[in-house]
Amino acid sequence: MAKITKPLCKICRRNAEKLYLKGRRCESDKCPLDPRKQRKVQAPAKTSEYGMQLREKNKVKVYYGVGERQFRRYFSIAKKAKGVTGDVLLRLLECRLDNVVYKLNWVFSRRMARQAIIHGHILVNGKKVNRPSYQVKIGDEITIAENSKYQEIASQARQAGRSGVIPAWIECSESELKAAIVRYPTREEVSIPVDEHLIINFYSK
Ligand code: SF4
Repeated sequence: MAKITKPLCKICRRNAEKLYLKGRRCESDKCPLDPRKQRKVQAPAKTSEYGMQLREKNKVKVYYGVGERQFRRYFSIAKKAKGVTGDVLLRLLECRLDNVVYKLNWVFSRRMARQAIIHGHILVNGKKVNRPSYQVKIGDEITIAENSKYQEIASQARQAGRSGVIPAWIECSESELKAAIVRYPTREEVSIPVDEHLIINFYSK
C-alpha cells in the first residue's frame, strides 16, 4: 500500500474536491469540504501545464492508494492494451479488489478494504485473496469470509448509509454479502472527477 505522508484533508483541500480518504469522517459534517458548512472552497491555485498534470496524477494515485511504481506499471499496461489508454488505465484502477470492496459499501474506506483483504477476510470465488491490487474479472464472485468480523462491519457501513452507490458493473446481493462482477466499468462509471489526458501527457514526455 502506498504510504501517504501528507495530511489527508490537505490533499482534498488542495484539489478542492472530496476524495474520501478518511472513512467515516468524510461522510460527516466534520469534513472540511462538507457542503453543509457552505464555506467557500478555495479553487486550486493557477499552475503551469506541468503542475496540472502532476496534480492530476497525484490525485488519482492518492484516491486509489497506489504508489508511483505501481501507478507507472498500470500506465504501461494501459498503453500497450487495445483501446483508449486513459479508459484502460481507469478501468485497471477501478477493478482493483480493494476498490471493489469499498464500492460495495462493506467498509468505510479504501484503507479499511485493504486491511480486510490483507488479513484474509475477503474471498474471491471461495478462495482467500490477500492482494488488494488483485484485478477482478468478469464472473468473479466476491464474499466476506464466514465468521469474519467484517460481516458485522459491513452491516454497520450499510446502516451508516455510506453515500456511495454500488455501480452497475457489480451485481450485489444485499442480504448475503455476496457480489459478482458482471462486466467491466465504463469511463462514465468512474466516479472520481479526473482529466486522464493530463496524466497521459505527464507520462508521455
Ligand atoms: Fe478530509 Fe475525507 Fe473530507 Fe477529504 S473527504 S477533506 S479526507 S474528511
